Amino acid sequence: MKINVSNFTGKCECGQKHDMVIKKILLESGALERLPELCGELGLIGKALIICDSNTWEAAAKRAAELLPDHALIKLQGNDIHPNEKTVEEIETQYPADVSFIVGVGGGVITDTSKYIGKQHGGIPVVLIPTAASVDGFAANSSVMTFNNFKHPLTTQAAAAIIADTKVLAAAPYRLIASGLGDLLGKYIALGDWKFANIVTGEALCPRIFSMVNEAVERALKIIRKIKDRDEEAVEALMYALILSGLTIQMWGNARPASGAEHMIAHVWELALFSPDTGFLHGETVGVAAIICKKLYEKLFAVIGDNPRDYFVPYKGFPHEMLKERFGSVVYNELMPYNNPDEGMLVDYDKLIANWDEIKTVYSAMPSSIEMERLFRDCGMKVTLEDLGLSNDVLPVTLEVGSYVRGRMTLYRVWHCFTNIDKADVM
Ligand SMILES: [Zn+2]
Ligand SMILES: [Zn+2]
Repeated sequence: MKINVSNFTGKCECGQKHDMVIKKILLESGALERLPELCGELGLIGKALIICDSNTWEAAAKRAAELLPDHALIKLQGNDIHPNEKTVEEIETQYPADVSFIVGVGGGVITDTSKYIGKQHGGIPVVLIPTAASVDGFAANSSVMTFNNFKHPLTTQAAAAIIADTKVLAAAPYRLIASGLGDLLGKYIALGDWKFANIVTGEALCPRIFSMVNEAVERALKIIRKIKDRDEEAVEALMYALILSGLTIQMWGNARPASGAEHMIAHVWELALFSPDTGFLHGETVGVAAIICKKLYEKLFAVIGDNPRDYFVPYKGFPHEMLKERFGSVVYNELMPYNNPDEGMLVDYDKLIANWDEIKTVYSAMPSSIEMERLFRDCGMKVTLEDLGLSNDVLPVTLEVGSYVRGRMTLYRVWHCFTNIDKADVM
């Protein structure tokens, strides 16, 4: 599948000029073999630093090493690798002096870490070779890094090129593919929340980017049920959608088009607040969180009905004490910079009431929670908290704290601090 990056750059109807670092995206069967040709095309000469782990070594890095004889290799050890201080240190202690560019071979963890290391080393070019269509971060110019026990969305070195070989992607463990579906289907909530923020705070929204994400999801949905059979064409459609979603992050300059309340809830679980064992994958948490969000929203609309004035109250203020108590002071201090300014202060209460009908339409345009659950089950994805290995007891606390891990307006945040509706009435 051809992805012409220049189609997405330049002056836009939204008034912005969308820029991108990424030069080339190959998404096709056998793309890996074109690695030397692509490096030549982009002027990437000299020593490559290949970053992988023992699984992705077998999947694609071994072949990449054969194709690029002038290379150094960092193979991360163990099965419990996260984009955190420990992994960064492991790479930094082995980082050779004479590297010209980085080749990151793997899924979300290797991708986010390689882009972070690229930025730390003066913006050294990074080529990414995804080994699974498991997240949408490949084409994004950001990494979510866990530092000080908090997941920080950091602007990092965008890839100069992505080589997505559908043969490699279709051979990935199915759990990783299902995780990619979760990250993708979460976009329904993300788009709804973006539109919602546009209505109630006047936050900027690019119609072109909005349609790009929407079309990417709809296109993948058409072929989604074939993904379970590892149909190469279906996996390609999924990866195309994930890449497009990542590109929109780069176009917009932050993750707003691809991340809403579902990502905030997912991040709470990923913070290991409730369980020291966070063995789940990012897309798994996002998928389950998307269903929970949709259920929450459906119940909110059912309770409020056509009477927003009965349920919306003036801003209740930022819950500093609750967050300190729930997260502890270390994580509280880490999350506060993302809440400056306080999004709650930006909400136009009158617009919220006056546009309630339009807001309902925004969210009713996406699949219902029942449809989402059915689709997730059909695709072998995780559906419930129990599937993630978490108890249902974590839900009340999750819903209490989740909307503050990012400074991003969502219907979820407004429910929390602008309504008199109790958790018990929407859970
Ligand atoms: Zn635009
Ligand atoms: Zn994500």
